[in-house]
Amino acid sequence: MTNTNWFSKDVISDRLTRICEPHVHKFFQANMFHVVGKDADLVIDFGMGLANLRNELHIPSGKPVFAVATHVHVDHVGSFHEFETRLGHAAEAEAFARMPDASTLADYFRTQPDAVNAADPTGVTPETYEILPAPLTRILEENDVIDIGDACYTVLHLPGHSPGSIGLLDQRTGEFFSGDAIYQGGLVDDLPGCNIEAYKVTMTRLSKLEVDVVHGGHGEKFGNARLHEIAKSYLISRNR
Ligand SMILES: [Zn+2]
Ligand SMILES: [Zn+2]
Repeated sequence: MTNTNWFSKDVISDRLTRICEPHVHKFFQANMFHVVGKDADLVIDFGMGLANLRNELHIPSGKPVFAVATHVHVDHVGSFHEFETRLGHAAEAEAFARMPDASTLADYFRTQPDAVNAADPTGVTPETYEILPAPLTRILEENDVIDIGDACYTVLHLPGHSPGSIGLLDQRTGEFFSGDAIYQGGLVDDLPGCNIEAYKVTMTRLSKLEVDVVHGGHGEKFGNARLHEIAKSYLISRNR
């Protein structure tokens, strides 16, 4: 398999592309997003790191790139180290610097039967898999803003799935990148590092957030009504 074939690309608009790794087991198949901005590009999440992501984005040399990890889980940070300017939440800053299994949960991938269904271009096998450290160069907190020239993204701290989970919201257009805080499909709140009480607070917030479109950490995009529906059904299921 070539580096390029490892990824699939879904062109959502002339400024937004979603990238996936179709040969990775579905539990670890996460979305990566590339937003082309006027002054800088934004890359959100970094897959498994089983191929070089950066080369596939064809970013003009010299153009600034903000690489933002929504959280430190294995399926979102593999290629984070390929980028120079790395942003993530303060609550996971230490984890990004060392990538310990206790935070990334990479041990789940190593022991996953059929973790990949094709040989990856780097020749790494699940058994020998390691995540390269990617210390943050800018630490994010609630309400910080990432400006790419023609769009600004506000950081929302959305803990629960993990302590440092964040979302990025363009408050002008309502475009919302939500990471694993919310997406269509089975949400995860029972792994090490998850906190159901914190997740309930996050879901209460998301049940009232007004957006135009949500691009989640997994699965297909969805709209405002679905956002509220998913958040409310989580709250019902966890308040029983
Ligand atoms: Zn996750
Ligand atoms: Zn994930």
